[in-house]
Amino acid sequence: MDISIVVPLYNEEESLPELTAWIERVMSENRFSYEIIFVNDGSSDRSLEVIKELADKNGSIHAVSFSRNYGKSPALNTGFERAKGDVVITMDADLQDSPDEIPELYRMITEEGYDLVSGWKKKRYDPLSKTIPTKLFNATARRVSGIKNLHDFNCGLKAYRKDVVKHIEVYGDMHRYIPYLAKNAGYKKIGEKVVHHQARKYGTTKFGLDRFVNGYLDLGTLWFQSKFGIKPMHIFGLLGSLMFMVGFIAIFVVLLLKIIAMCSDTYNFWVTKSVYFYLSLASMVLGVQFFCTGLIGELITRNSAERNNYLISEEF
Ligand code: UDP
Ligand code: MG
Repeated sequence: MDISIVVPLYNEEESLPELTAWIERVMSENRFSYEIIFVNDGSSDRSLEVIKELADKNGSIHAVSFSRNYGKSPALNTGFERAKGDVVITMDADLQDSPDEIPELYRMITEEGYDLVSGWKKKRYDPLSKTIPTKLFNATARRVSGIKNLHDFNCGLKAYRKDVVKHIEVYGDMHRYIPYLAKNAGYKKIGEKVVHHQARKYGTTKFGLDRFVNGYLDLGTLWFQSKFGIKPMHIFGLLGSLMFMVGFIAIFVVLLLKIIAMCSDTYNFWVTKSVYFYLSLASMVLGVQFFCTGLIGELITRNSAERNNYLISEEF
């Protein structure tokens, strides 16, 4: 099979027939063998019935339906697990992504050897309240992830070599950072293609402004995981040692002041009146906490099922 198209959807009943007809047309024009995997993310409208009607007419249409709304990342992950095509394409169900981009995306993966090609909505048809924070968000993601050539991390339209989707795990709200996940898994050839974007035709967006707060928090998590995920003591141990050093210096200063005070009877000195006393106290307590966090982190890592999962690219 050439292509698996994974479509996560949540209450998109109006768009589905149009989207399906469009994909079918592009697939038959290019003679691709394909499957469409609709992942119904607990829709409360008629989306599932619509998919059933569509699947009755076309044997290439498959569906997975969640019992409740879990989110776009779980939907994508479920689609990825089931995908059988050599190239896996993800696209939103709301007709904002154009199926006409698929042949070129497919060519970039199969002929130019990309692991992942992300769409870039260079000209967006979204409100300003979304486009401006998105620019900022992408700039941060570029810096943190080190994937410097991507302008649009969170474009729903992406293409993957099958291998990639089988080796990454998209959970929580991590769909915003799939290129970063892929990079962390060892897939380096990540490209971009300018894609046409359209205004939402039916329904409304499923994400509110909290997407930006959550987006940044998730980026922090991913950064931490990729840097210290399997060696947490390296960061917490370092912080703990720094704190201990500050604590010892402060204690030394306090003792010195006390000795000086004791030697000169003109000066009445109480250690609890010195700022260094509190500094040493706070740093020592923090230092112990950092070390304990590091140790617990190490124990958790040791027990993780993935502690020895390495992606091997070649073996002779
Ligand atoms: N979506 C989903 N589960 C959710 C939220 C969204 O499967 O909990 C789907 C949604 O139906 C659409 C895609 O994810 O197919 C992108 O959502 P949306 O168009 O609302 O996002 P936006 O384009 O505003 O970023
Ligand atoms: Mg959309």
